[in-house]
Amino acid sequence: MVATVAELRERLDGARAGGAVVGFVPTMGFLHDGHASLMRAARADTDLVVTSIFVNPLQFAPHEDLDSYPRDLRGDTALAEANGVDLLFVPAAVEMYPEAMRTTVSVGEVAAPLEGHSRPTHFDGVATVVTKLFAIVGPCRAYFGEKDFQQLAVVRTLARDLSLPVEVVGCPTVREADGLAMSSRNAYLTADERAAAPAVHRALQAGVAALEAGATDPAAVRRAMAELIDAEALAELDYAEVVDAATLAVPDPLRGTLRLLVAARFGGARLIDNVGATVGATAEAASTEGSST
Ligand code: AMP
Repeated sequence: MVATVAELRERLDGARAGGAVVGFVPTMGFLHDGHASLMRAARADTDLVVTSIFVNPLQFAPHEDLDSYPRDLRGDTALAEANGVDLLFVPAAVEMYPEAMRTTVSVGEVAAPLEGHSRPTHFDGVATVVTKLFAIVGPCRAYFGEKDFQQLAVVRTLARDLSLPVEVVGCPTVREADGLAMSSRNAYLTADERAAAPAVHRALQAGVAALEAGATDPAAVRRAMAELIDAEALAELDYAEVVDAATLAVPDPLRGTLRLLVAARFGGARLIDNVGATVGATAEAASTEGSST
């Protein structure tokens, strides 16, 4: 376990000098099998795997769950070790932000809709901390989950725009047996809310089914998803949307490689999930979870 920027740099520079390729898995901790899948992908592809655990204050709005965000450093250490992680980088907030931040990374359009609309300051916080972590870790392959699909788009954009020496790798969403996407925030769910939460994945499947039945009107696909959430008494819909997977804009009529995304509240937990779908004969498969119509 490494707590300082200086020590992490020294270790990683030393490894790279010996020819090692560094794999990087940034997280906020309270690790689960979704995180483990990223670690295993990094382990398979690279020589030295570093995972960061940092609950980044910049990406939480004042009314959000920064203080209550679940933490379990002992469990996280065991999970990381069992999945081939060589180094855990666990900086204190003052190590990451010794002074008030003046610099903010904003990626523009891809961060504006969906999560960006619901959480207006969120992606600036994410983009800024990821840029900082990339600067600290240095040349590497960095692994991110499709679970946070828009975040992955934000990270790809900043890495490209800023010519960072990082290859961003997207990994498929890991789910519970009933379809619920694994998330540290699932810990907030009561037993009843947990039983209701697979409605999010069912809503996404209903959206895909609407596309497969020939729907090309975005409003019709949104409606198909919203109906499933509205039918669940413990769920409150934030958004249900279908977008172009590359631009995150809404094509009308729907065509090409698409992403369906839902955000909903279950009591104190705000859950997000997404799946891919492809409409039209020439389009390529959207993702490992994609559906072709
Ligand atoms: P977090 O700790 O929630 O910030 O997530 C850290 C990384 O793990 C991000 O790249 C997430 O997209 C990824 N991740 C979280 N949940 C899952 C999941 N269920 N399947 C795959 N990746 C995930």
